[in-house]
Amino acid sequence: MKTVKDLNFQNKRALVRVDFNVPFDKQFKITDDTRIRSALPTIQKILDDGGSVVLMSHLGRPLKKLKEDGSVDKEKFSLKHVVKHLSELSGKEIKFADDCISEESFKMSSGLKAGEILLLENTRFYKEEEKGDESFAEKLSKHGEVYVNDAFGSAHRAHASTTVVAKYFSPENKCFGLLMAAEIENADKLLHKSEKPFTAILGGAKVSDKILIIENLLNIADNIIIGGGMSYTFIKAQGGNIGKSLVEEDKTDLANDILKRAKEKGVQILFPKDSVIADRFDNNANTQLADSKDIPQEWMGLDIGHEAIAAYEAVIKNSKTILWNGPMGVFEMEKFKNGTKSIAVAVAHATQDGAFSLIGGGDSVAAVNQFQLADKVSFVSTGGGALLEFFEGKTLPGIAAITE
Ligand code: AMP
Repeated sequence: MKTVKDLNFQNKRALVRVDFNVPFDKQFKITDDTRIRSALPTIQKILDDGGSVVLMSHLGRPLKKLKEDGSVDKEKFSLKHVVKHLSELSGKEIKFADDCISEESFKMSSGLKAGEILLLENTRFYKEEEKGDESFAEKLSKHGEVYVNDAFGSAHRAHASTTVVAKYFSPENKCFGLLMAAEIENADKLLHKSEKPFTAILGGAKVSDKILIIENLLNIADNIIIGGGMSYTFIKAQGGNIGKSLVEEDKTDLANDILKRAKEKGVQILFPKDSVIADRFDNNANTQLADSKDIPQEWMGLDIGHEAIAAYEAVIKNSKTILWNGPMGVFEMEKFKNGTKSIAVAVAHATQDGAFSLIGGGDSVAAVNQFQLADKVSFVSTGGGALLEFFEGKTLPGIAAITE
């Protein structure tokens, strides 16, 4: 795999696709800068070589979230809100072009001197970005002599700046950034070189989002631990009473089919034996413990219970490889975070005892960060959808564009 380490950027201008799609509060203060921090080593390597850097990224979905008058909200979705923070983190002045393909932006990129950084405005202000438009991609390519893709979080999209742009660079002038390389290496290790027992922990709201990954995991995992809202579709499919818990009625047949195939393949699928149930979806709700198959009609399961935690901990403790995607309950609410926290602690302990653990997906990453366990697991992925698609066994277009 070719990375920035294999190239010398002296007097070269690198066009680097980063993922600066960070969350902001109402005052445009960045609430989680992980993605920006993760891009710094690649930027630094290019600058240390004596090169210059043109950064491009998307931010949010500006063309889908229009203002009331139907216009694009160029203030809300501007990458200019990242400039100050990036400058503080990198210790460098950051130039900013308020359009990614304007004449002015090309003047700025072609005028960059060694050691300088230019950030282009949100690529998604152009509809051509998500369409993977060739002429737009070709214009973007003029910003640099070398193309570096460091945006793993967007690698599953065949967009202009993540994929199509790469074809306007010769094979020797395109490579992966360090973040992207680490993401691919770790995900690949898990998928192809994992030590057994391999345990996958899947949670979150919907079964439908996780069907393909479960199907692929049936081929490699020994245990699949299920938690979160998605458990109840399986439990209902098996004839349980789940009250008002989250359910996808149209997925119960599929759930039964997955269980049947797991049995055939000798994969153990674990469901929460008990649940913390609530009389409404609220942190101030009344709560109690219940058998997950016997939830009273007006109640809903919002976290895994003590017995489930103990059973899951035992399996995690004995695992050599652990993949975790999706919370075990509504961890955003104090009353329903115990299951997710206990699993995070169990994964951290197993890692300490020598297991390889990879955590991916926005909510599970938010959870390990919230519980300050991010440095106690082997790898925290910045990819949500991209990581899921990787584990579904798909070829990610952003990766193929560099390697093929
Ligand atoms: P996902 O995006 O599918 O990974 O789902 C993450 C979301 O699922 C989080 O916001 C959780 O609050 C939510 N969630 C987890 N468990 C439950 C549950 N038992 N009932 C409802 N929502 C849940």
